[in-house]
Amino acid sequence: MKNIMVLPGDGIGPEIINEAIKILDFLTLRYDLKINYEYGDIGGIAIDKYGIPIKDETIEKCKNSNAVLLGAVGGPKWDTTLPGKPRPEDALLKVRKDLDLFANLRPVKIYKSLISSSTLKEEVLSGVDILVLRELTGGIYFGEKKRSSDEKGEYAYDIEKYYTYEVERIARLGFKTAKIRKGKVTSVDKANILESSRLWREIVNNVHKEYEDIELNHMYVDNTSMQLIRNPKQFDVILTSNMFGDILSDETAMISGSIGLLPSASLREDSLGMYEPIHGSAPDIQGQGKANPIAQILSLAMLLRYSLNLALQADIIEKAVDTVLEKGYRTADIYDDDKKLVSTNDMGNLIVNEIKIICLNN
Ligand code: NAD
Repeated sequence: MKNIMVLPGDGIGPEIINEAIKILDFLTLRYDLKINYEYGDIGGIAIDKYGIPIKDETIEKCKNSNAVLLGAVGGPKWDTTLPGKPRPEDALLKVRKDLDLFANLRPVKIYKSLISSSTLKEEVLSGVDILVLRELTGGIYFGEKKRSSDEKGEYAYDIEKYYTYEVERIARLGFKTAKIRKGKVTSVDKANILESSRLWREIVNNVHKEYEDIELNHMYVDNTSMQLIRNPKQFDVILTSNMFGDILSDETAMISGSIGLLPSASLREDSLGMYEPIHGSAPDIQGQGKANPIAQILSLAMLLRYSLNLALQADIIEKAVDTVLEKGYRTADIYDDDKKLVSTNDMGNLIVNEIKIICLNN
């Protein structure tokens, strides 16, 4: 029996998780998959209930499961800059760290039927297929941080620190992933300024010796942000640190047209992983049926593929999403005048129906 922890979180999280669960329920029944799932609280909802963004007991359950399916956390109700006050996002950092989910995979795919939703030109976009591989448990987000004051006034700092082993394992995954893609890794850093980037570059070059059939180039992060808009087709796997990956993956999301379309996987060295959309809790559209559930549904597909080894079912979900988009159904974030506007719930049902049709033919 495989166990999944489902953490809907805040804002649109519970709405889009519902749509993914409909699909999981259908596939479990149809293929007699031995999958159990259990819900848990994370983020603002957990702060409201327990005063902390995630309970140790929930973390333990995540550790003992095969995979975690997460919605999103956060919202204005819990926004605080007060030191010591719990923040919903602290739970995400804690889960990533406690489960040692050191690798974040964010695939960026261009849907032909959605090319017009992007702000970039069709000729720049067609053929773009990028995987952003972001280091997730090191660097400045986890380094020492402090606020204090001296004779010049108040100051704050955050330290970017990487160990060799942290760079080695993410670099190795980058080269392995490139092997089953287009065979190219672009390692992104700021080695002209930062010592931590100079170590990053040195280690990536060392690991590359084990994967000489893979093309490797290095690019500064400022240039990368420009090249992603100028010529995104040049990229295959973008390998980068925690903070640079955070920023660049949002930029790549916009290449695809909407942040509501992109899934992500955060993996450990074994098959345990946490799967979530790349977007946040979108409090501005909460409860209005406007949320696009596709990123969440594709996160479920990644979960089935990477943690449960169910490639067939993952393929079925991805094909169903393609078909529904081809047929012209759109949530508000990707809507164009000549298309059919649908709600979150409708979009989920349409994808389930398409899955049923695909299964009939399988
Ligand atoms: P956001 O990603 O929530 O929203 C940015 C914009 O994209 C908004 O206009 C929103 O309506 C839209 N959007 C996002 N997801 C969408 C979807 N599925 N369908 C349609 N439109 C969608 O980012 P934000 O507004 O900067 O942050 C809101 C909250 O989410 C904050 O509290 C932030 O800290 C939190 N956050 C959480 C995560 C996470 O849980 N992993 C990630 C980023 C931000």
